[in-house]
Amino acid sequence: MYDAIIVGARCAGAPVAMLLARQGYRVLLVDKARFPADIMSGLFIHPRGVALLKRWGVLHDVLATGCPQLYSAAFDLGPIELKASFYPVNGVDFTCAPRRYLLDPILVAAAVGAGVEFRDNTTVQELLMDEDGCITGIRARTAQGTTVTERTRIVIGADGVHSFVARAVKPEAYHVNPILTCGYFSFFSDVTVPRLKAYIRPHRFAVSVPTNDNLVMVGAQWPIEEFARIRTDVATHFYELIGQIPELATQVHQEKQVGRFIGTGHVPNFFYKPYGPGWALVGDAGYHKDPILAQGIADAFEDAEMLVKALTRGLSGETIMEEALAAYERERNESCLPQYQLLMQFAALAPPPPDMQMLLSVIAADPEESTRYLGVLQRSVPVAEFFAPEHIASLMA
Ligand SMILES: Cc1cc2nc3c(=O)[nH]c(=O)nc-3n(C[C@H](O)[C@H](O)[C@H](O)COP(=O)(O)OP(=O)(O)OC[C@H]3O[C@@H](n4cnc5c(N)ncnc54)[C@H](O)[C@@H]3O)c2cc1C
Repeated sequence: MYDAIIVGARCAGAPVAMLLARQGYRVLLVDKARFPADIMSGLFIHPRGVALLKRWGVLHDVLATGCPQLYSAAFDLGPIELKASFYPVNGVDFTCAPRRYLLDPILVAAAVGAGVEFRDNTTVQELLMDEDGCITGIRARTAQGTTVTERTRIVIGADGVHSFVARAVKPEAYHVNPILTCGYFSFFSDVTVPRLKAYIRPHRFAVSVPTNDNLVMVGAQWPIEEFARIRTDVATHFYELIGQIPELATQVHQEKQVGRFIGTGHVPNFFYKPYGPGWALVGDAGYHKDPILAQGIADAFEDAEMLVKALTRGLSGETIMEEALAAYERERNESCLPQYQLLMQFAALAPPPPDMQMLLSVIAADPEESTRYLGVLQRSVPVAEFFAPEHIASLMA
């Protein structure tokens, strides 16, 4: 009997497992992928995520993979360019963008180092339930085709946007917004970009970020309405968009492309109620949003910390589990909701209205305010604080 079984061993699941095991709980971590494996995801981690890697003692290993430390970002809106240092979080003033096939195994190794039992190549196919409807375990299939049954006090779905656990427990969804964008990215050699750089054009978005092996990830996003057209010939549409951005057009060519295009038109925007009897959800499984602001990895890390705080109160008997997990849901929502609407505005890919353009040009002229604005996009400066009428009035004055 485990204290917790965690389904999904990446940015959300591996830290939950590690943090629980560090407190002495007996944890099983399973993933259907064979590790190390890549996943359809960007790589950029906001400073608040890097700060957690540091606190967990794994940042050194992540940086040792050779992914560069990035100290600033730039937003090119055509007529306006906003350059800023990252807003520091707990003394961390940089970000990095490690390849996921390198990052995720480091997180799993930290979990295993803390005493977690890890089984990859293991697909959870059924949740076990008692007569009161409480989840009590999993039934999973191994790569060898064997079916295994394991019992636990709680099953945690850290199994991503297509969460099997969520489909099985059917949680209530709220703050649901339609899918807004589709996107594709790939990796390129011999491209010089010293920082994260985003290019914002009407109904188009592109981003470049240096990663491991001297490669640069270049991504592009379009309105979801264009997905059917884009997916028929991703390369043509991708290079067409890049061709409209002179700085990238001169550097990003097919000959320098390393690997294929990776992307999706399935980036839903929703919150799930993340708990019920014998189960909880964490990371993308419980809250999914458009990747345009690259929040998913840092959110998954923070979510893991919040969930573990609640679980330890519930598992230790300090609080009734249901109350502890209700507090987790409140904390998650209070932390994520304020920026969710801003994110939806970004993902709409509409040109900023004239008053916003004016404000952005004022911010761009002031390095301190540029960093605070970047802090808003990092989800480190509260949206309400930055956009408080007095602050906006003082900026415009
Ligand atoms: C195109 C794109 C670009 C993105 N770019 C960024 C970015 O630059 N920065 C950023 O922060 N975020 C980005 N994101 C979001 C980010 O990828 C996710 O938020 C993050 O990966 C969520 O982590 P997770 O651990 O919750 O889920 P995942 O990373 O999806 O991991 C889920 C795991 O569960 C396993 N699993 C699923 N079902 C089962 C099962 N039945 N049994 C066992 N295992 C199972 C899977 O194999 C997988 O390993 C991007 C997303 C997309 C789609």
